[in-house]
This record gives sequence, structure tokens and C-alpha cells, in this order.
Amino acid sequence: MSAPTDKNVSRPATRPATTIVAAGRRREWTGTPGHPGAVVNPPVWRASTHLYPDMATLRAHPGNEDGHFYYGRRGAPTQWALAQALTELEPGAQEGGTVLYPSGVSAICGALMTVLRPGDTLLLTDNAYEPSRAMARGLLADLGIKTVWFDPMDSEAFAALCPGARAVLLEAPGSLTMEVPDMPALIGAAKAQGLAVLVDNTWASPLGFAPLAHGADISIMSLTKHVSGHSDVMMGSTTAGAQWYRPLRLKAQAMGLVVSPDDAAMMLRGLRTMGLRLEKASANALALAQWLSGRAEVAQVLCPMLPGSPGHAFWARDFTGGCGLFSFVLKGGTARARDALIDALTLFGIGYSFGGFESLATPVDPAAIRTASPWPRPRKDGTREEADRFAVRLAIGLEDVADLMADLDKALAAWSAAR
Ligand SMILES: *Cc1c(COP(=O)(O)O)cnc(C)c1O
Repeated sequence: MSAPTDKNVSRPATRPATTIVAAGRRREWTGTPGHPGAVVNPPVWRASTHLYPDMATLRAHPGNEDGHFYYGRRGAPTQWALAQALTELEPGAQEGGTVLYPSGVSAICGALMTVLRPGDTLLLTDNAYEPSRAMARGLLADLGIKTVWFDPMDSEAFAALCPGARAVLLEAPGSLTMEVPDMPALIGAAKAQGLAVLVDNTWASPLGFAPLAHGADISIMSLTKHVSGHSDVMMGSTTAGAQWYRPLRLKAQAMGLVVSPDDAAMMLRGLRTMGLRLEKASANALALAQWLSGRAEVAQVLCPMLPGSPGHAFWARDFTGGCGLFSFVLKGGTARARDALIDALTLFGIGYSFGGFESLATPVDPAAIRTASPWPRPRKDGTREEADRFAVRLAIGLEDVADLMADLDKALAAWSAAR
């Protein structure tokens, strides 16, 4: 389900905080022909059947085109408004558009199915989200598509892998281990060899990093996280320029993917406050990351916004914002002690997500899934310890940071007692 860029948007170019308020609110989607723009939000258009006033209209109808009533699977104004809003937020997408998917994973799948054919080679970053890795090992392998993994922090080795490959899937930062690669270097190397460049931009959102403006072809997002912001709805998106938007849309239509108007309305509601939430969550996360990096129990804090964290200099150079998601590695210890730490937290839920208003904690074991780059990472002092295997990922929400700090302080004491 998708909408092309509205060429008739008459607003002047605005800064992101303004765009996020106004984007997608086309007057014909928020009113009636007699009173366009009558309400703030597009109504929830629940529709499978779309009706035509007469046969002449059906015959003359632009039909299978975006942003026109045709049939439920093509969406209606609620979904079009969300797609349009995401396009307006993505620098570089203005001649293209956004396709919506039922989940972030289906958006990744839709993008990969669009750019790859049997016999192709995909380059996949070693810090990728685990379901992306599983897709490469399963679905793509079954289709005769080969995957080559690479260390996202070694741009030169990556450039050597590009000749002959069809596409690359990047993530910045990796959503478990949080290292920020040199995105302009990776994208530049891939484009020099004609690869399609896909970026899973879920961590940063377009407010924090602009993949298309940096030369990438397709920007992918799990809207489930920051756009929803309230942990109660799932969706994904791909946003692209003129070259890839139509192929993405046709592939999604061929797979019969739809998103419900109710879910789209919830996403639009979440989107309007995303900038504010990201600012608060990032500030909370950075304060906690700084505090954790001074703790004796902690070997390393992996937080893009924190000076000294892997790839921080690239984050500072290329990104315009952060978010609440980061990890920290414990100094030695056991899996049982880490469980004790997480169980001792009272203000953090235990759950695999982020981007909600509430804080979460989960164990992460990157050593088990990495194939092309070393783990554990070096300690704060530069030494590398095999014992530093146990990491915790925190998704920081909108709580008062002093309360979160006190909760983590208690949990680190529980870890020390259990190790
Ligand atoms: C959550 C997530 C996804 C998948 O999104 P769903 O909406 O849960 O399917 C993809 N990539 C990253 C980086 C994620 O964090």
C-alpha cells in the first residue's frame, strides 16, 4: 500500500519538526469535496470495496494507480496519508514515494525481493537485525541468492567485496551491538560498483539519519518502534526515489500486502510526536550511558551518542539525532548473574522491542550470531577479554532519568551479588 509524492504540496520547504506536524495532511483526505481540510486527521476509511458512480468512470478510471480509489488492497486516504507523510520526512524521496507493509520484517523482505533475483549475491552487514540474517539463510538461500557477510567497521574490506554483488543491506547503527559504520564510505563503495543500497534505518528514523540523501536507494523502517511510539501496533515501510519506488510498490502488490486503516491512523497519531519523544529518550539514554561507563561492573557501553563508543565519530559527523536504544557489556560474570540484573529491574519491562514510551531491558549475546567480525569488543582501556560476553540492551523511554538510574544501580548490585 503506497502513495506517490504529492506534487501539489504547496507548503514551503520546512524543517523536520514542522514537516512532521504537517506531512500527509492533504486537504482532500481530511475533509469532503465541499469542505476540504475539515478535520485535522484523516478519518479511518475501512473499505474493501471501492465504488464507482457509473461505468464511464470505471472505464476512464486511473485504476491501478496510487492515491486513487480502486480496491481495498490499494488502500484509501488513511493509508495514503501515512505513506505521504513518511515520504515528506525522507530527504531525497521527493520524486518517489513510500510503500507500507504489515511489519518491519515484511518491509525488509519486500525490499530484498525487489532488488534481488536468483543467482545474485547480497552483501549483508554483520551487525544486522537477527531476522534479516535469518531471511538470508532461509528464504534467500532457497531462491538461489547467495549472502556474503561483512564487518561494517571495515570499509576497505567491504569495497573489495562489492564487484559482482547485486545489493547490500546496511544497518546504522547495528541494533544489538550499536557500532556506527562510516555510511558515506560504505554507500560510496557500493554505488561505485552499481549495487542497490538498502538501509534499515529503524534506529535513527529519518529524523536522525537520511539514507537517500546519503546516496542509498531504499530506506527501510520498522514503524513498530519510533513511529508507533506506544508499543501497540506493527508496521513497516520502504521509501525510495524515482528509480526504486515503482518496483517496490509492484512487488508489494504482487505479494498482496496490506495494512489496515485503523493501524495507519494509530501510526499517524504516533508520528506527530516522534521528534519530541526521540529527543527525550536520547537525552535520557545518553545520561544513563555516561553514568554506566563510569561503573566498575561495566566493561563497555555501546551507545552511538557516547564519545568513545564504536563509530561515535561517524554518528557525530553524519547523524542529526539519536534514540533511546543502547547496550552495555558487563565485566565478566555469568549468564545467571545477568539474569539476576535484569530481574532486579523494576522500572524496565523485559521485552524485545524499542521506541515505546516505556523502558525495556533484554539480554544480548552477539558472539553467538556474528560471523564476520570479532566479539567481544575491546574494553574501555583497549584490552579485549573473552570473559566479557554478557551484554544487556536497554530501550530507554520517557521516564525521569534519575528513577531509571536508581533502578539500574540496584540491579548492578544484584549482579555483583550473583556473579
Ligand atoms: C524491530 C526491527 C525490525 C522488524 O520490525 P517488526 O516491525 O518488528 O517486524 C527490523 N529492523 C530493526 C532494526 C528492528 O529493530
